[in-house]
Amino acid sequence: MSAAGAAQAQTAPAPLEAHVWPLSATVSDDGVLSLAGIDVTTLAEDFGTPAYILDEGHFRARARLFVESFTQAFAPLGTSVDVYYAGKSFLSVAVAKWAREEGLRVDTCTGGELAVALRAGVPGAEIGLHGNNKSDSEIARAIEARVGRIVVDSFAEIERVAAAARAAGRTATDPVPVMVRVTTGIHAGGHEFISTAHEDQKFGISLAGGQALAALTAVLGHPELELLGAHTHIGSQIQDAEAFEVNARTMLGLREDLHAATGYLMPELDLGGGYGIAYTPDETPIDVPSLARDLAGVIADVCTELGTTVPRISIEPGRAIVGSTTVTVYTVGVVKPVTIDDGSVRLYVSVDGGMSDNIRPALYDARYTARLANRTGSAQTVRARVVGKHCESGDIVISDIALPADIAPGDLLAVPATGAYGRSMASNYNHVLRPPVVAVDAGQARVIVRRETEDDLLALDLG
Ligand SMILES: *Cc1c(COP(=O)(O)O)cnc(C)c1O
Repeated sequence: MSAAGAAQAQTAPAPLEAHVWPLSATVSDDGVLSLAGIDVTTLAEDFGTPAYILDEGHFRARARLFVESFTQAFAPLGTSVDVYYAGKSFLSVAVAKWAREEGLRVDTCTGGELAVALRAGVPGAEIGLHGNNKSDSEIARAIEARVGRIVVDSFAEIERVAAAARAAGRTATDPVPVMVRVTTGIHAGGHEFISTAHEDQKFGISLAGGQALAALTAVLGHPELELLGAHTHIGSQIQDAEAFEVNARTMLGLREDLHAATGYLMPELDLGGGYGIAYTPDETPIDVPSLARDLAGVIADVCTELGTTVPRISIEPGRAIVGSTTVTVYTVGVVKPVTIDDGSVRLYVSVDGGMSDNIRPALYDARYTARLANRTGSAQTVRARVVGKHCESGDIVISDIALPADIAPGDLLAVPATGAYGRSMASNYNHVLRPPVVAVDAGQARVIVRRETEDDLLALDLG
């Protein structure tokens, strides 16, 4: 083997850890990452950086996986499952259309999200509206759009939604469908879950002290409202099916309590979202088909124990549908070695975005991985910290990662699993322009949310 051949062999690109990258991601022999058959070097040239690159086929595949897994698991129970895509994770007109085409409904939690879903042509009946502090106009608009459900979040809101329903001329023959958000005391995130009797957070109505039962009963007292069921959402990035099972059991118990107290059997239960994905290679995404089977098994068992029929079920995955579909592509700028307290060196690698396009590390200590995306770097690695360009020392994308030692200004760095709560939580901090979302599919790239311009920023500034 020639010397050049030996050098090449030594620096063969590291394989992709498939579970954190979009389905269509590949790496060429010379280390260039490509998505849906398009090199990120081309994407960076055509669309600039930073940019969110979204694998449309992956989004559709995840949507179908949820629909098919839950439909298959629950069909033997004689019931069906509606999958609501949690729009807060990332919503645009294109994405809402894809969701609908793949058989999902859309869950919104503000007037803005509702407007995007409606603009996409999602019928009101296939939209849900949440929110712990809905405005009167949000409620009125949801009623006018005839959304499939308004999830009421407090006692006061039951009266407000009822009043708005009456104001819209809705009566017992044409009632407004509502659910009641219940807090079951089960909280989960990551691998652990906890169960508490009393809730110390803003959402929903607690089971404790019969409050949830009282709220459901209060809805039944309003002929202009139709009680579809109870709703619960126990947390996010949950890896453990057991928390969902315990929660389902609790909700079925509540349904039976209401039945015993009032004779009304709620037709539906919404079990919320929160299904976990892998952000880093050491994490394991929740297995959707086995989760669906486990949940169906628990629900079947509990309904048999209680001697009741199986309700219609709805779920609200956001992250688990869009999270892994997207890669943020940054350009590397300043690369600075810093000697830290223990005498070792940390390489600060600055990228052209940061906390304005991904607030999750700062907000939740969220962890991500990254790879050099435009070439094969040196086999030798350095201990690095990927940071943004904002005027905050906490503007960190990845706190600790091994990167090729020869990483240099002008390189492209790709961060996977940024599809959920990335663009949707993006800000204009430091008057940074929010990046575009570029959908890629079968060799084609299309901007679905364009990059902000300085004119966009200044359009709001009235001088
Ligand atoms: C945030 C949220 C979801 C989606 O959560 P994911 O972790 O993205 O699946 C679903 N339902 C409700 C009510 C939520 O608040």
